[in-house]
Order: sequence, then structure tokens, then C-alpha cells
Amino acid sequence: MDIFTGKGVSHGIAFGIVSVLQSASALVDESPAENPEDEWAFFTNAKKQADEELAALFETTRREIGEKEAMIIDVQRMMLDDGDFNDAVADLIHNSRKHAAAAAAQAGKQFSEFFAGLDDPYMRARSADVADVSKRLVRLLTGGQSVQQELHQPYVLLAEDLSPSETLQLDKTFLKAIVTRGGTENSHAVILARALNLPCVIQANLPDLNSCGNRTAAVDGDEGRLYLEPDEDTTKRLRALQEKHHSAALQLEALRELPTVTKDGRSIRLFANIAGPDDLEKAAQNGAEGIGLFRSEFLYLGRDSYPDEEEQFEAYRKAAEAMQGRTVIIRTADIGADKTAPYLQLPHEENPALGLRGIRLCFARPEIFKTQLRAIYRAAAYGSVAVMFPMIISRAELRRCRELAEKVRSELEREGKTVGQLSFGAMIETPAAALAAGDLAQEVDFFSVGTNDLTQYTLAVDRQNSEVGQYCDSHHPALLKLLQFVVEAAHQAGIWAGICGELAADPDLTKTFLQMGYDELSVSPGSLLKLRQNIRNLNLSEE
Ligand code: PEP
Ligand code: MG
Repeated sequence: MDIFTGKGVSHGIAFGIVSVLQSASALVDESPAENPEDEWAFFTNAKKQADEELAALFETTRREIGEKEAMIIDVQRMMLDDGDFNDAVADLIHNSRKHAAAAAAQAGKQFSEFFAGLDDPYMRARSADVADVSKRLVRLLTGGQSVQQELHQPYVLLAEDLSPSETLQLDKTFLKAIVTRGGTENSHAVILARALNLPCVIQANLPDLNSCGNRTAAVDGDEGRLYLEPDEDTTKRLRALQEKHHSAALQLEALRELPTVTKDGRSIRLFANIAGPDDLEKAAQNGAEGIGLFRSEFLYLGRDSYPDEEEQFEAYRKAAEAMQGRTVIIRTADIGADKTAPYLQLPHEENPALGLRGIRLCFARPEIFKTQLRAIYRAAAYGSVAVMFPMIISRAELRRCRELAEKVRSELEREGKTVGQLSFGAMIETPAAALAAGDLAQEVDFFSVGTNDLTQYTLAVDRQNSEVGQYCDSHHPALLKLLQFVVEAAHQAGIWAGICGELAADPDLTKTFLQMGYDELSVSPGSLLKLRQNIRNLNLSEE
């Protein structure tokens, strides 16, 4: 038996066979190639395929985003044919006996570093294009973006790290647990694992992943442990623990229909966070009183083109109908930073978390934003729907959102389409939004505090970077002061306030949030009933 330790970020015990997820770059063969002629032929063939892909992408981008954005793709097509780039690849293949994928990766790296070092900002920006082109070639040459070893039995996924797109694309039928070498507590991949209610261990001291495939495994998400080929005693102990979890879950089920109210009569709304319609059933099973955060951007990830109005309308309508008159809060696409897909053609940025993400990207691509707002307005006719905007820093942004929404609404009405009523909210995810809460409250009907980002931006700690995980103190006094300030500002202005970041499920802060005066907590479906139990056991009048 081998034991590896990490940080347990989603509770539970699971057993399965190891399936390894390899990223495309890990699949590049660095050994000497046998036949350079063959490698050159593979490369030219991949170039042809890449050009076809880019030509198709050019068309959809031009149609769905605009001429200017499509030009970026044209630049990438030109790079595929760039003489210097091709010479560099040829040299690596013929003189250094590199495999085609290794040559494309290495030449791409050299050229992108070269461009990144230039003074001219236009040329510097080309660095990302070269990197993109080379990634595309590597993907085509290695046969996939990331490759998961397929298993048709319960499995434990091992990976270096997971992006939100990769998490979405996992085969979930037999997935029992996730263990990664990297990862952070508030990363979107972990949030998705929690939503699936699977044990998850991050920052694990894993061995070479190639040596793990097909071994039997047990994962302890409570203690943050992975056991490879667990011995009999360990298996017995973990099975007993698993049984305990199971009976605790059964007990919690009794709370499904009960009100969320403290012993001394203070009630609070308990909503669920979902990534899409697939999570609605879990939300209902766990007694959600509404959907407090529909992370709509997940409709855009793990695919090759934008979801159109009809597809989005169907997803939002399903949520509105499933909740039967209970509130569904749809967060407009919060794309950017770690939430990306190649077709989105996001620009290369030095600090993407401080860059064109969330509402900023929606403003930069108004057609995308308009399409989404149209779908939301139409779905609002089927239930009680609210919309909220991510990454807000100013009142002017909220005014702009409201103006655009109004335009969309009257356009739909002119077209004779049925639209519903919407209420509007602002996510409070930046210190600027928190401190300007009094002003922002003039523009919206509610606030929802995104503590994952509010923590990252208040403490200056990248939520994606495990190296600085120790500084991510989610109980930091600065954060708690901002949370108190926000709810007071909301109430003074006569609007309600909730929390939808992962902190909302922190049992050590439940009483604090109620005492602060929060009106709603929105958590992943798997955390709902436990939180309801905690609240029902609280007495706010007791110290
Ligand atoms: C947050 O930032 O707390 C939040 C709820 O949004 P996301 O985690 O999707 O960035
Ligand atoms: Mg956020």
C-alpha cells in the first residue's frame, strides 16, 4: 500500500481504479524520432488541419463576435505559414531528431518568448498568438486536448491539475473521487467537484502519474489522503467511515422540507449554486429554496463554439420551471481568468484575474452579452428569475447593464416575443464594490457576495496559485469587515444581501453571517442540508 497526502477539500470516502488525466503537453514524446521524414509529414498534415480549423473559427467569430476579433484568427493562420517558424520546426525535426509535436512545442515556445520580449506592444501581443498556434498543432499531433484513460467501472481520477473545461468534460458516470497534485480550495475545478459531491484531495504529493494507472485506490476526502492498493485493514476502516457518511446523509435527508430557521426564530433563505441544468436535480434533492448562483459561463466551456440564444433559453427555462416559482438567480457569463475555451479567443494577458473577465468581457463583446440577456428575459416568463452581474466595480457599470437589458427587453417585445419580469443584482467580488456598496445599491434589487473573488482581491492572493494558498485566510478581519459593511449598506438602501462564495458553507461562520444580518446563503447542493442542520441548531440569543 502507498499513501499520499494532500488537502481534503470535499468530504467523503471513495474507492475505485485509478484513471489518469494527461494534459496534451504531457503527451509530447521527447525521445529521438526514428524517421525525420515521417515527422515532417505529420507536421505538414497537422498544419493543414490547423488551417482548416482556424478557417472555420474565423467564420464563426466574424459572424458571432465581429470583424475585428476575427482578424486575430487570420493572424494565426498567417503564423502557421510563417517562414521562420517553419524553418525552426524543420531544423528541430531534421537536425535534432525531434518528434513533430515536440518540435512544434519547442519552436512555439521560442517564438512566443521572442515576441513577448519586444518593445512594440503590437508585436508583444503576438506572443499569445504564436503560443496558441503551437498549442493547436501539439493538440492535433498528440491526438487530443487532454486524454483521460477510459474506464467503465468506478474510478478515481488523478491529474496534475484540472481546468474548469477539463472538469466539465470528464466522464462522470463512474467518477468517484478526484485527486490532483496542484489545485486550490476556491478554484473552479474544486467547486465543480463539490457540486458533484465527490471526495476531492488537492495539493497531493503524488508520484509520477504514469506509474498509477489501473491501480486500486481509496480516497479519504476528510483527511486528504490517497491510498494506492490499500491493505485490508485500511479498506475495512475506510468502508466503515463510508458507511458513517452514508447514514449521516440519510439523516440529513429528513431536513429536506424543513424551514431554515434558528432555534430563536431567525430565518434565512438557503439557495443552491449550480453550473447548469444538470445540477437542478441535486439542488431539489437537497432541499434548495432557490438557485442563488447559476454559473452560466459553464454553458460556454468545454465546447467549440458559443451557445446560441435558443440553447441558453432552454437551459434557463429548465431552471426556472424546475424551481416552480422559487427564485433562480442567473449570473451573466463570468468568462476569463481560468474560465476559458480556445474558441473564445481571449487575448493574452499578464494578469488575467485583473483583466478582461466577467462584466468587462461582456462589455467588450456586446453581441454575446445581448444574446445572453435575450435568453434570460425569455426564460423569465417561466418562473421567478433574477440576473446578476459579476466583477462589478462601479455604479456606472450597473447603469450600463440596466440600459442594455432594457434595450434587449424592448427589442424582444417589438419582435412579439414573450418576456418575463427580471430583478437585478450586483455581485460583490471586489473591494471596490464592497466599499461602494451604498452607491451600487441604488442601481439593483439585491447583492450577492462572491467571497471566492472578494478574498482573492482583498488579500491579493491568487485563488489559482497553490504556492500562496497559505495566505488565503478566509477569516481575515479585513474580509469580515467588508462583509459586515456590505450587508449594512444593502439594508440601509432597502435591498437584500446574500453570500454565494464557498465561504457561505463554512460552519465556523454561519452564526456570524446570521448575526451580520445576511438574508440568503447560497452553497453547492451537497452542502445544503448540513448547513440547514447547523442553522436549525443555532440560537442567536445565546453567546
Ligand atoms: C465568487 O467569486 O465567490 C463566486 C461565487 O464566483 P466564482 O467562484 O464563480 O468566481
Ligand atoms: Mg467570482
